Amino acid sequence: MAKNLRILLDMDQVLVDFVGGVCERWGLSPEEVRAEWPVGMWQMTEPLTAALAKKGRWRLSSDSVDGAEPMTLDTFWQKLEGDESFWTRLKPLPWAEDLLLLVQLLTEDWHIVSSPSRCDCCYSGKVKWLHNYFGQGFDRFALTPHKYIFASPDVLLTDDREENCQRFVEAGGSALVFPQWYNVMHRRQDDPVAYLREMLTCYAEEGTVDTPVVAADDGGWDRVWRSLGE
Ligand SMILES: [Mg+2]
Repeated sequence: MAKNLRILLDMDQVLVDFVGGVCERWGLSPEEVRAEWPVGMWQMTEPLTAALAKKGRWRLSSDSVDGAEPMTLDTFWQKLEGDESFWTRLKPLPWAEDLLLLVQLLTEDWHIVSSPSRCDCCYSGKVKWLHNYFGQGFDRFALTPHKYIFASPDVLLTDDREENCQRFVEAGGSALVFPQWYNVMHRRQDDPVAYLREMLTCYAEEGTVDTPVVAADDGGWDRVWRSLGE
């Protein structure tokens, strides 16, 4: 096991089914939204709009090519505004337990780092979710959109948002893009924990890469890591 390895896990879409919760909030099934969601596209507002429009539940506009104006990010977040229970009721993703077991095998020094929405109740809702899942005394977490502040050569972040990974590496840490259908690692979306197992095991055992590696995959990020700097 590598010495001093610290692993930071993102929460939404790594441990917690945020997308499923949003679909439910709009009265749609995840399948209905996924059917409208192109592989590799980050933003959820367009597929959500398209799925709503298909059911005649989104305003039609003759100016728009496909007959519907995509919802704005403001509308997207307003739907969740002021509702702590949205955050507390989100379901763990099917692989959450396996992912946590994997991480705990590699290091005792692991933490959850999550970026809250602009709503106050998101902060309390996320803490309550963590306490429900891990137990009331659980305190291995930080809620901040500025994940890069924790970056250092022996710290690795896994996050489904490429931007967060990129910024973390630029700040001197290591990062792995957590595979999801809407990011550059979509080819590994069927078994994200298998991908993490390969990459983290290699990172923990070898840790010999002396510069950050940014391998292009679909013109974007595949994997990023950095030496433990022995
Ligand atoms: Mg996330």
